[in-house]
Amino acid sequence: MRISRRTIKFDLGNETALLLNSTSGTIDIIPNKLLKNPSSDTIKKLTERGHLLTKDREKTTLIRLTEIAKNHGQNIPYWFYILTTLRCNFNCPICYEKSTHKTKDLNLATLKKIIKSIEEIQKTQQILNKRMFIVLFGGEPLCGNKEVIENILKECKRRQWKVVIVTNGSLVKKYAKIFRTYRAVISDFRITLDGPKHIHNQRRPQKNNLETFSLVEDAIDNLLKERFTVKMQTILGNGNEKHLKELAKFLLTKNWFQNPNYQWRIEGSHDYANLDPQKDEISEGEMVKTLIDILKKYPEISAKIKFESFKYLGHIVNSFEWLGTYKTYWGPKYGFCEPQKGYHFVFSTDGKIFHCPRTVNNKTYLIGTVNKGLNSKSKKYKKSSVLEKQKCKKCALNTFCGGGCAVQKVCYDHFDCQKYTLQIINEFLTLMRKEITKRSDPTNIVYINKPWIDFKNY
Ligand code: SF4
Ligand code: SF4
Repeated sequence: MRISRRTIKFDLGNETALLLNSTSGTIDIIPNKLLKNPSSDTIKKLTERGHLLTKDREKTTLIRLTEIAKNHGQNIPYWFYILTTLRCNFNCPICYEKSTHKTKDLNLATLKKIIKSIEEIQKTQQILNKRMFIVLFGGEPLCGNKEVIENILKECKRRQWKVVIVTNGSLVKKYAKIFRTYRAVISDFRITLDGPKHIHNQRRPQKNNLETFSLVEDAIDNLLKERFTVKMQTILGNGNEKHLKELAKFLLTKNWFQNPNYQWRIEGSHDYANLDPQKDEISEGEMVKTLIDILKKYPEISAKIKFESFKYLGHIVNSFEWLGTYKTYWGPKYGFCEPQKGYHFVFSTDGKIFHCPRTVNNKTYLIGTVNKGLNSKSKKYKKSSVLEKQKCKKCALNTFCGGGCAVQKVCYDHFDCQKYTLQIINEFLTLMRKEITKRSDPTNIVYINKPWIDFKNY
């Protein structure tokens, strides 16, 4: 019996092993003795679970599975980031935007061209209005020209596009009247609260070093009072990871969780260009473990928390239901992130178009301009499927990984993406080993999830 090279085997240390197969998506716990001397029943089970497929069968299965990803893709919103300015009134030490950004604020003339470009993309790609989202972004977008910001809202209203406002919250009050006028087009506000008071203030100080926690708290209070949707974000890094429970405790003292317009989104800081454990980065494995712990401690708020940035571990976490079963797509992964799948476009203040929010004003990732439209790089960085990339197509990890970050591959010279992916999976499984072994059975195979395809009827 030969186990597929697309099955990752992880030794659980109690005479059992975890098997994860990237063709069928199956996750199983198997006693080592059954693997060593498999009976016909074991072979039958392993075949049905996709661990013993022939190469050809694996190939056809992978192609067939793209349908699942395509179906999911039909509902993904398109995000068109418009940067109104690269200035910011905060001085966050963890900010990934470089101080070298010196372009002026967005003006009305460039905005007009941006809107025209977006219209063209919508037309060529036949995007329905309900999937069109304009994202006000910066720097701090509300530091930009007020007339320009009002104009964006006006143009969106005319075209029935929705607007997401990503803001630090400090200037929301100044725009109260405008926001009320354009309430109908505003989908939600994304405001970051990065920890309890002392931690948030350390991570997100104002330029003049004044505190910002109470500004954010006020902004969220006011927006909710005005019945806007607030998707509060916490970006997890080394500096705030240990304080997440404290933040949850604070949030419970507010009445936000009872408000239908409030949601807490927790994301990992994923600056793939500068991944450096000495800075603020934490590994995906560690981040997910922290999230699982927080949900265990506060199960009552689970419906209000959304977890983002599962680049590699989504399928495993979902299979074990460690973070509940709220609806989002967990795999098979044929693309790594929304920009690479072609759903995001980032317009800088001078009308240049970039690949993703992490690449603003970096000419390596320039994918077009408002004057000339999208260039050939836009296709290079936006290959939609792992099956279109030579290396990924053959990779045994492809449906767990999705093709990796285009920025990371350029920033690190001899980057070994497979080693990196395996490292993340192994680190996480090690952190969760105790939880996993609780599910093991010394005599039988334990099925953790359903396969992506039913092999009995396929
Ligand atoms: S990026 Fe690397 S690890 Fe990911 S699918 Fe491609 S080859 Fe595999
Ligand atoms: S390519 Fe995707 S994963 Fe990489 S930095 Fe950009 S958005 Fe993030």
